[in-house]
Amino acid sequence: MPLKLAILGRPNVGKSTLFNRLAGKKIALVDDQPGVTRDRKQAEGRLASLPLILVDTAGYENVHDDSLQSRMREQTEAAIAEAEVALFLIDARVGVTIEDQSFAQLLRKANIPVVLAANKAEGKAGRDGLNEAWELGFGEPVGLSAEHGEGMADLFEAIRQAL
Ligand code: GDP
Ligand code: MG
Repeated sequence: MPLKLAILGRPNVGKSTLFNRLAGKKIALVDDQPGVTRDRKQAEGRLASLPLILVDTAGYENVHDDSLQSRMREQTEAAIAEAEVALFLIDARVGVTIEDQSFAQLLRKANIPVVLAANKAEGKAGRDGLNEAWELGFGEPVGLSAEHGEGMADLFEAIRQAL
């Protein structure tokens, strides 16, 4: 049985880039509840020897009004409800933001394991953000570069240990 992994975090941290890197074939657009699950994308994928069902959250990425927070919350809660592990992404080049903090709050209430990763960690620019990520309270953050395919072995190990 593949492990169902939801990739969560604020817009622009690299969720879809990671989804695309890990995905083999796309399964379906999740389409049951308009406005809530409309843009939750799923794909079969693999991380080292671990077969995955990947869930990518979106649907709020182009919303720039007061509903953004509640849209993100709905998407995230829906993804948590169906997943077995949550992969919480932040941007290592930006460091921890207020939005990351509110995701952390939401994820602390999740009844599934949460693995924290700081993406865009290639080169030196991500070093401070990776260290800052400890303050989110999910243990040792995994340094990743979804774009360059770095940190995948560490991610595999962190997920394996979280299960
Ligand atoms: P999402 O909104 O969280 O799904 O983020 P996207 O996957 O759409 O990525 C947002 C931007 O970050 C895009 O311009 C990506 O090319 C860029 N990006 C994603 N992963 C990396 C990475 O590992 N390193 C760098 N430097 N940029 C990245
Ligand atoms: Mg995206």
